Amino acid sequence: MADMDPFEQAQIQLARALKVQKISDALSARLRKPEREITVAIPVTMDDGTTRVFEGYRVQYSSLRGPYKGGIRYHPDADINEVRALAFWMTFKCAVAGIPMGGGKGGITVDPKTLSAGEIERLTRGFVQRLAPILGPYMDVPGPDVGTNAVVLGIIADEYSEIVGKPTPAVATGKPINEGGSEGRAAATGAGGMHTLMALLPHLTKKKPAQMTVAIQGFGNVGSFLARNLFSEGFKIIAVSDSKGGIHSEKGLNPDAVERYKKDNSTLKGFPGTKSITNEKLLELPCEIVVPAALENAITKHNAKKIRANIVLEMANGPTSTEADDILFKKGIAVVPDILANSGGVVVSTYEWEQNLKGEHWSEKDVLDKLRKLLNRESKNVWERSKKLKTDLRRAAFALALERLEKALGAKTAK
Ligand code: NAD
Repeated sequence: MADMDPFEQAQIQLARALKVQKISDALSARLRKPEREITVAIPVTMDDGTTRVFEGYRVQYSSLRGPYKGGIRYHPDADINEVRALAFWMTFKCAVAGIPMGGGKGGITVDPKTLSAGEIERLTRGFVQRLAPILGPYMDVPGPDVGTNAVVLGIIADEYSEIVGKPTPAVATGKPINEGGSEGRAAATGAGGMHTLMALLPHLTKKKPAQMTVAIQGFGNVGSFLARNLFSEGFKIIAVSDSKGGIHSEKGLNPDAVERYKKDNSTLKGFPGTKSITNEKLLELPCEIVVPAALENAITKHNAKKIRANIVLEMANGPTSTEADDILFKKGIAVVPDILANSGGVVVSTYEWEQNLKGEHWSEKDVLDKLRKLLNRESKNVWERSKKLKTDLRRAAFALALERLEKALGAKTAK
């Protein structure tokens, strides 16, 4: 998928947004480069006694609006350039959501599926030992991303706490509930995607959820929770996929049953009543909503013309190239941009951070209600901005973020 430099794409998105939203030269200059980036080598004793050295990264893009915030990705294709792009998008995502966080991201070039639980733990502890001087609840707060989960984030908080000599759960989010994690965090990104979609839907179509079909590429944390949320709103999920391929049924899929099947069989393939479909063909299915929820560059100039959905809901980060954006726009397809659509994860991560700092534990209902209200408000703000500026939702979301980043810079320089 990674046939295009994601950081270049991100900078092009910024340049396009700057045509509709004027900002100061000072902010424009600051947004061109990350404030800090670090590459580390992490030696790990493997189960067979040999030592392997893994490369890890943390990019701290902007602290204008608060501590750096962003997930850690464990993936064989993770590299500094990808992490830099993801850190850039986090800066804008946190600003669109209006949460008091800056932007960061991390990663390790590794295929976690090939490591044992013990090896992943030693790798994670080694990563934290290398990064500890630049992490902290008020400095940089990692969360989960592709290939990492609550267990990994719990280990990050535990290792950091060991290093600083006191319990510091607020250093990482997405932890297990009994280690200071927030209720609702696992479901948050998927739930957030559903709230964003529901807030924008009346503006994008006359159809009701029960009349709408959805194809989802990527049935991991984000894709599976989104599928469940959309299913319970009445949408018909006609296809889902993972890295090995997908399944398709015009009759519709029950995401809970699919999840159970995948757990039992380690594959989606063969789910009763479905046909196999490739990841490429899934995106091209005739349906109302197509959801890239896997990795970057899912929709490019090579396949954008073939997209037949009316709405693209970007749950992955950076799934659509700017060339594809233009093609989709000409075809009248609305793209709900990643920095809005998938912000539910970082919003609830911020609630987790706040609970840890205050020593509180909120109920799942309180967390998800707060998330729904925030995303309703900010989705409407993005919609109104797009009308005011006569532009697409991506440029409108960037414009809103730029305005908030400008305010933060103004407040800093006024001191
Ligand atoms: P995950 O590791 O839980 O799931 C990723 C899914 O994508 C898996 O089903 C995997 O099999 C599938 N996949 C991998 N390569 C694929 C390919 N080439 N084609 C099709 N499917 C493929 O990761 P996740 O946390 O669900 O993240 C998915 C996306 O959402 C990423 O872009 C991530 O940055 C973004 N995101 C995640 C969160 C979060 O809270 N986890 C928040 C915001 C955005």
